[in-house]
Amino acid sequence: MSSISNKINDIRGLLKNGPELVAVSKFHSPEEILEAYNAGQKIFGESRVQELLAKEPQLPSDIFWHFIGHLQTNKVRQLIGHVAMIESVDSLKLLKLVSSESYKKGVKTDVLLQVHVAMEETKFGFTPEELMDFMATYSPEDYENVVLRGVMGMASNTDNLERVRSDFKQIRGIFDKIKSCYGESMPNFDTVSMGMSHDWQIAAEEGSTLVRIGTAIFGPRSYAI
Ligand SMILES: *Cc1c(COP(=O)(O)O)cnc(C)c1O
Repeated sequence: MSSISNKINDIRGLLKNGPELVAVSKFHSPEEILEAYNAGQKIFGESRVQELLAKEPQLPSDIFWHFIGHLQTNKVRQLIGHVAMIESVDSLKLLKLVSSESYKKGVKTDVLLQVHVAMEETKFGFTPEELMDFMATYSPEDYENVVLRGVMGMASNTDNLERVRSDFKQIRGIFDKIKSCYGESMPNFDTVSMGMSHDWQIAAEEGSTLVRIGTAIFGPRSYAI
């Protein structure tokens, strides 16, 4: 058995009855992705539009592609119809565009709203406050071609595991709050995407339903390609 399939099997064994696995394949080749696919993996995560569009036609059509990187508004049109889920919707403008482009293509696109709780500065993601404000004005009927499935977030990049745990608790807490306030009008709001190669065990303990794991499956990325 190849090492990619070993790692997929190990991780899937550990996740059993826990979160679902997104195999983050950015910067890895179609051949490597196929190895993971042949080990039973169906959901793959990519963070760049051109890269996803280049790989998709070379791989089995029953793969579910998740877009997990920052999505520029001028790339939305190309992406829609090629992804099952956009995990990284980080503005109202982007959500509107995903909905209108999905309408034009006659598809529905699952989305997660990205929430920023980590200590690193970033322009991307709603703060918890912004997200709650947004939800207070959100009407699913205004976005008929998106299905709001949940939230996505990252923990601080730190060795302080208590901070990592409290970041995950906060992300899960925001999901629970939205679910309890607005869940009745959003029956498909069921996803908390959190946890990466180095911290997914903590994320799983704190209530993740979807982990995004790259390096622990495919090894280190070579950013040269
Ligand atoms: C690259 C990436 C991952 C995977 O990171 P690893 O440390 O390789 O597991 C997960 N989530 C997002 C948003 C990413 O960009």
